[in-house]
Amino acid sequence: MVQTTLQQAEGRKLTPMLRQYIDAKKQVPEDSILLFRMGDFFELFFEDARVAARELDIVLTARDKGADAIPMAGVPHHSITSYIARLVERGYTVAICDQVEDPKQAKGLVRREITQLVTPGTICDLESLDPTSRAYLACVEPASASGMWTLGFLDMLAGEVVVTECAKGSLLDELHRMNTREVIARESTAGEIESDLRVARLPLRKLDGAGPDPKAVRRTFSHRFGSLSIDGVPGEAPLPFLLVVENLVHFTEGTQRRSLRHLACPRAYRIADYLTLDETTRNNLELVRTQREGKKEGSLLWHINRCQTSLGTRTLSHWMHFPLRASDAINERLDNVSALKADRNARQNSQQALLAVRDIERLVGRIAVGRANPKDLGALRDSLMAAPGIKAVLSQSDSPLALKWQQADLVSEVRALLERALVEAPPTAITDGGIFKLGYEEQLDQYIVDSTQGHEFLSELEARERENTGIPKLKVRYNKVFGYFLEVSRANADKVPEHYLRKQTLVNAERFITEELKTFETRVLGADEKRKTEELRLYNDLLEVLAGDIHRLRQLARLVGQTDATLALAEVADECRWTRPEFTEDKCLRLSESRHPVVERLMPGGERFIPNNIELSGDDRRLMIVTGPNMGGKSTVMRQAAISVILAQMGSFVPARSATMSLSDRIFTRVGASDDLGRGHSTFMVEMLKTATILKEATDRSLVILDEVGRGTSTYDGVSIAWAVAESLYESVQCLAMFATHYHELTDLEVGRPGIVNACVAVRQNAGKILFLRELRDGAANRSYGIQVAGLAGLPEGVIERAGDILSSLEKAAQGEVNTTKRGERPQLSLFPAQSAASKDAVKPVAKSTASKAEQLKARTLNELVELDLNAMTPVQALVTLDRLQKKLKKK
Ligand code: ATP
Repeated sequence: MVQTTLQQAEGRKLTPMLRQYIDAKKQVPEDSILLFRMGDFFELFFEDARVAARELDIVLTARDKGADAIPMAGVPHHSITSYIARLVERGYTVAICDQVEDPKQAKGLVRREITQLVTPGTICDLESLDPTSRAYLACVEPASASGMWTLGFLDMLAGEVVVTECAKGSLLDELHRMNTREVIARESTAGEIESDLRVARLPLRKLDGAGPDPKAVRRTFSHRFGSLSIDGVPGEAPLPFLLVVENLVHFTEGTQRRSLRHLACPRAYRIADYLTLDETTRNNLELVRTQREGKKEGSLLWHINRCQTSLGTRTLSHWMHFPLRASDAINERLDNVSALKADRNARQNSQQALLAVRDIERLVGRIAVGRANPKDLGALRDSLMAAPGIKAVLSQSDSPLALKWQQADLVSEVRALLERALVEAPPTAITDGGIFKLGYEEQLDQYIVDSTQGHEFLSELEARERENTGIPKLKVRYNKVFGYFLEVSRANADKVPEHYLRKQTLVNAERFITEELKTFETRVLGADEKRKTEELRLYNDLLEVLAGDIHRLRQLARLVGQTDATLALAEVADECRWTRPEFTEDKCLRLSESRHPVVERLMPGGERFIPNNIELSGDDRRLMIVTGPNMGGKSTVMRQAAISVILAQMGSFVPARSATMSLSDRIFTRVGASDDLGRGHSTFMVEMLKTATILKEATDRSLVILDEVGRGTSTYDGVSIAWAVAESLYESVQCLAMFATHYHELTDLEVGRPGIVNACVAVRQNAGKILFLRELRDGAANRSYGIQVAGLAGLPEGVIERAGDILSSLEKAAQGEVNTTKRGERPQLSLFPAQSAASKDAVKPVAKSTASKAEQLKARTLNELVELDLNAMTPVQALVTLDRLQKKLKKK
């Protein structure tokens, strides 16, 4: 096993190359992995080689032998991006040390430099980035005098920098909402957030030192952006904003080893300007991923994403994470959706044209950071070529987008330049030539002709010389010693013209050269090399020219993204028969024939989603207590209410026949809980923490969806908590809320409290079986049907029967209690006998009670008889059922 460490090697006599490696290693952060270019490979040495061998599953070898042996591993340079992506994914920072001069030209050791540091927040290779979501590097600054923390985000390829403020408790929510890939913070701040970030699996990098001094920050900022202002903040931006921007840009420039000239002016946003959805709510509602499997398929975004481009998908996802709160802005989006929903032709034609558009935003970002390859430029060209087609269709359409397209800058000179410059399918490598078309540049044309058309020239010359000399077997040939020559047999040697110069005489042949052949040779030999060098030069010039148009290209990318997202919303609205929501000042949510879009789409073949009417309103229906059987559809109907509000406020139509609502400031959902062992929280604790947040943060303009609060503890505790939470929502928060529960005691809340309504998901019982009607009706459910649902789930018959016995005993035992309790006076905590002594052990004595088994079965049979829905039975079914029940009773 090879043992030498870098420290041990340092003290020894090393080759110049290894010395160069160690120097490079000292220039990069200690915890980074250095990839060192040597010819066609990137090599790793010492501990880095061991790590890479383990993480990348590559062979660990050794350089030198015996005690001097140094661990070594390598990866081919052409597939380096996938190896880097894998290391970064596993949390490593990767430093790249590349050759910065042509090895053929190098005198002695090839010059190498650190060209890039790749970290999760600054990765810029398109294959490693999720095309459907933005990728931000975030910077956190601790609370200012206002008690708010400052957050900054930088998306390097999008050239976007945004800042905001939030309370410490919302920090993680905001980092998640922005799809943060990595966080940077000063050492002192890092300590405060480190453990939370670790649990959230967000990589944190600590910045050295106490941070730049305020004067220097102001100076650099204003030098970079031309002033001290930030969009969205009147006057000079506060220092914490300037500081996070400076930290982000400085850090990113360090990783790219170049200054970032392409950044747009930083923008500030207020969290309160958007409908706030915390992480739990986004997860509960499965906005971008399913809760259980974490898959995109099955999420709301998956359902509405009819985008043709990743620009569109990212815009749609952004709209979903930041639904608006200003009705004007929402209605502007809705006007566009409405117009394009109606104009199917315009929609389909523009979607067709969008198919050719690639990720302009990120391609442009790669140009800005000097990492665009010729293939990227080809993709940019193809995208720009598609733009006039989209403009032609949309500027004629009857939507507000038409005006934007009429005025759109299609950056046509850049398109023309790229069309003139690039071959049809440009290569990925920039050093191998083959990038430019003939006709782009005269000198290059010559090299291209010489290197690619040499063969044609030679056969043409051969044919011509044969004809001129009358020697049919004359040949043009080549060898390394003499280069190109004309060869004729000895017998024909006297036929050669005078301008042929004899070069060599062989036994059977004579070899000649001509002036023309000599000129050709000097031109052709080395033309390939010259071509590559010239193409590289022209390519860098081209990047320089394109860099000047980045802001215009980015504007176009933004318009394409908005257009594609709008078309997607129009498409889904048309295809799924959605309706335009209407907004009102009065606090309400009224949805008629509402559906859950994803559950509806995933219904098994032949089954139909049953639409529901949902009505909440500020005065008489602000808290809805939803009861009903397990599997009855309670969670679904509540989720669809929340989803409809999100869709509406992001500017989408909603899955309903009609929809009227007031604008919400926040949506909170707590639907199903899981434990959070990372933070040391049990399921119950997590549930209580989330509930506490809701009661603290919800306002009277929030929508709260609570599903089964109070599970996971004793029934009495659970009912009491659920009761108190519901009461608090009603009395203190006064928001619109839906509260699903299996504690039927809560249905009594309605009494004497105008504004609380009971609703239930309907079910029909037929011949001992239950049929879910999935219909939300006013009124309380009379029972939970948990045992029947357990039966449907396949619990053994014996267990189900025994559960039925226990239930009827419990119900009987509780009966006396019910009779002595007046509705509305106090919670009807009557599931178990009320006396505290009896309560905890209620199951035992009742289960062992003296009530004979026959009596219990009789009670159940009678109950079944009472529950029969005669209207839903045919006469024969009724007769058969009666016969069965009668036989049961007689037997008892
Ligand atoms: P539990 O109390 O056990 O949590 P629940 O009442 O919350 O159950 P849901 O989870 O909402 O029930 O619904 C159960 C299943 O019923 C859903 O997965 C869905 O397949 C189906 N479902 C729900 N609502 C409808 C509907 N309106 N139309 C058709 N199927 C529905």
